[in-house]
Amino acid sequence: MDIRINSYIPVTKVEGVGTRFAIWVQGCSIRCDDCANKHMWNFNGGNLYKVNDFINIIKSYKDKIEGITFLGGEPLNQIIPVIEICKAVQKFGLSVILFTGYEYENQKDNKNFQELIKYVDILIDGKYERDKTDFSRPWVGSSNQNYYFLSDRYNQSVISEYKNKIEIRINPNNKIVLTGMGNFNELKEIMR
Ligand code: SF4
Repeated sequence: MDIRINSYIPVTKVEGVGTRFAIWVQGCSIRCDDCANKHMWNFNGGNLYKVNDFINIIKSYKDKIEGITFLGGEPLNQIIPVIEICKAVQKFGLSVILFTGYEYENQKDNKNFQELIKYVDILIDGKYERDKTDFSRPWVGSSNQNYYFLSDRYNQSVISEYKNKIEIRINPNNKIVLTGMGNFNELKEIMR
């Protein structure tokens, strides 16, 4: 089984609780007007990985991280390989946070979704909506997005405990990569 991935950062502190392995899947059928990741829409883009190979990449970082975070692109558009990865990392003792542009309430009768959420600790739903921009809560950019705590591992307290942060990386090819959540336009202006 394969999974198509745009990119991943093995160790980050801005994509959920604690230090995490963040995975941006490639491909999104939702296509929101305000999407900041339009380059992740194409289902032929990114790189294809064997699920087992990708699980082994995560495993090699398991002592440095608290869990993994799925972002996108749209993780639910590749739900079967995403379930396999979540199931495997749970066995390593890692937690799972998953962002989806779909709404939880509309997915909860879907059998694959019911299987997926057995392995997810926090699910954050809803697409970014510019007219509802709100950076006051961690990891999300608009007020319509909701947190679902699906296991005993975390609870609502993380919402007040964590703040939005942005990480800046300079790749070997001198490309600057910004990740996390916050006012990216303001930051780009300062950097200019
Ligand atoms: S769901 Fe996410 S990745 Fe997909 S179009 Fe909307 S904001 Fe972009």
